[in-house]
Amino acid sequence: MVIKKARKNLTERRLKILNREFFRLAEDVRRIKEHSIENLEYLIDTAEKNMERNGFEVYFAKNVREGQKVVLDFFEDSSTVLKAKSMVSHELDLNSALMEGGTEVWETDLGELVIQMLNDRPRHMTMPAIHIKADEAFKALGVEDFEELKIRVRKLLREKLAKADGGITGANVISADGSLFIIENEGNARLVSALPEKVMTVTGVEKIVDSFSSAVKVSEVIWKSAGYYSPSYLNVISGISKSGDIEKRIIKGLHGPSKHAILLLDNGRMKARDSAFKEALYCVRCGACQFSCPSYEALNADWGVVYSGGIGAVWNYITGSESNPFYCLNCGACVETCPLKINVPEMLRKLKMIKIGKIN
Ligand code: SF4
Repeated sequence: MVIKKARKNLTERRLKILNREFFRLAEDVRRIKEHSIENLEYLIDTAEKNMERNGFEVYFAKNVREGQKVVLDFFEDSSTVLKAKSMVSHELDLNSALMEGGTEVWETDLGELVIQMLNDRPRHMTMPAIHIKADEAFKALGVEDFEELKIRVRKLLREKLAKADGGITGANVISADGSLFIIENEGNARLVSALPEKVMTVTGVEKIVDSFSSAVKVSEVIWKSAGYYSPSYLNVISGISKSGDIEKRIIKGLHGPSKHAILLLDNGRMKARDSAFKEALYCVRCGACQFSCPSYEALNADWGVVYSGGIGAVWNYITGSESNPFYCLNCGACVETCPLKINVPEMLRKLKMIKIGKIN
């Protein structure tokens, strides 16, 4: 099974990386997330002011309908939009919304591109094509092996990048002092966020933390928990491209996009802060718990409409999508694996009670 192989590889990698220092850092990150979620209104206000000062346009959306409208308005005059990986973009069903309006949309993350070609959906937070065998991926891209795949994807996406007038990215963390943190290995997110004329970063409000140094700590926990000593790229974007080279006069949009907007999505997150599902907002989306879950493996990751697995079931509930909490066996493997020790089975127990009408 594909997932079994991925789980074995990740476990081996994590064992080499996760040491006492990591666990101390993870405890720190848990405190950072608790503090940030507790003070979220204040941090949203601070982030908005600082991001606008840095040259970003900032938008808010309460739900999917509002989110789609913001994105469609922003890209109204764009003909080709390229996307880096973003689960929030799937939460907003952006590909369909943009394509229905006549915009060409291309995923640039390899796993997301394969999924797009197969008309499928992501089934893991960091490895969207986790359920797809190499042969299926080759077939979808019309190639025979990994070498051909690399050449084909590079050529196809460079052609698309050359004509793209829009770019969409997600963000792993946002610091309230106005910086976006995007962790990646492929290098596509930096191209998508730098080359097109207009770029929009779509993300959930819960990604905001109090400071730049906190955002660096959260980022480190994410990539290490996902099995990397360090990612190939940590993109930190703190404003739009500018130059003060001539007479120290600032000109904006020189090499990078002339407009970079940020969409902060609520879609149930603020309400979840006052519920039994608050702990889910601490999730940094490293995806490690999904690998540890026996049900997720047995289901070939086919558990949940937008977000997958146990934590995905909670996220689907928060954001108004479908999942079956009864797949959870309550074994607790996810809590053991989670760097923030988020008690997913306990939230799923509550979700089961809601489903059978025992509690509201
Ligand atoms: S619940 Fe924990 S292990 Fe799972 S994705 Fe979130 S932070 Fe990572």
